[in-house]
Amino acid sequence: MRRLQGHTAIVTGAGSGIGQGIAKRFAAEGANIVINYIAPLEGAQSTLHMVEAAGSQGLIVKADVSKPNEIERLINQAWAGFGSVNILINNAGIGFEPAFLEAKEEDFYRVIDVNLKAPFFVTQAFARKLSAEKKPGRVVNISSIHEDIVLPGHTSYCASKGGLRMLMRNLAVELAALGITVNNIAPGAIDTPMSRPLLENKPRRDTLLTQLPLNRIGTTEDVAALALFLASDEASYVTGATYYIDGGLSAY
Ligand code: NAD
Repeated sequence: MRRLQGHTAIVTGAGSGIGQGIAKRFAAEGANIVINYIAPLEGAQSTLHMVEAAGSQGLIVKADVSKPNEIERLINQAWAGFGSVNILINNAGIGFEPAFLEAKEEDFYRVIDVNLKAPFFVTQAFARKLSAEKKPGRVVNISSIHEDIVLPGHTSYCASKGGLRMLMRNLAVELAALGITVNNIAPGAIDTPMSRPLLENKPRRDTLLTQLPLNRIGTTEDVAALALFLASDEASYVTGATYYIDGGLSAY
């Protein structure tokens, strides 16, 4: 049986990497997918092809999720397209920033707006819809092991993901009465466009591998499998938690 048959998921930043992997896996399990992207269109189109090849329906919606008016449009188009939505994957994120002593106000807000403000307001718009419809739902945030573990040189990123951890825990409590669960996935090193500059640097990759008990870089399929569980009916008693998926990196 397909585990998400009859479900519809919004995946933010679904044109590449982990978001694309989740969209593909959820579609294979029967879910319809709202494919949010900011750029480029080709990435969203290739996600759409994967969704359709899996026998599900996809809807591409361009929206900058760091902007509340674009979030409103994303949510309205999602509901108009599929009638209702019951899964939200807050995946969109950005990673690179200047060193702390060089960073300007706009550098800080660029990271915070996408990684923290966006999950706040996308979840708010999603929960308002579900509350009005009196329907349950699932929210899964793609956080990072750096919601809890220091990464020098990435101070705004770590602050954004640390904030996402407390956002998730508060919302798990606040939205429980509506039947909406909220959890974080905290990936370690996953092979995606975001991590590729690091992973293509052989000495850094080799060092990283020595720190990974499972001795391999993670894949988007690894993350999608965990997201599938958290979005599924089987996870109805799971809320307010972070799930690490990092090959054992944080076990030290
Ligand atoms: P990625 O760069 O492939 O994916 C990020 C996506 O978000 C891109 O498609 C990008 O266009 C989109 N995006 C960025 N800003 C946006 C905006 N304002 N509105 C809409 N979409 C926007 O990299 P990824 O590794 O797949 O990243 C996905 C998530 O996983 C991020 O939140 C990232 O922090 C997290 N993460 C990744 C790793 C890793 O090793 N790759 C590790 C830990 C956490």
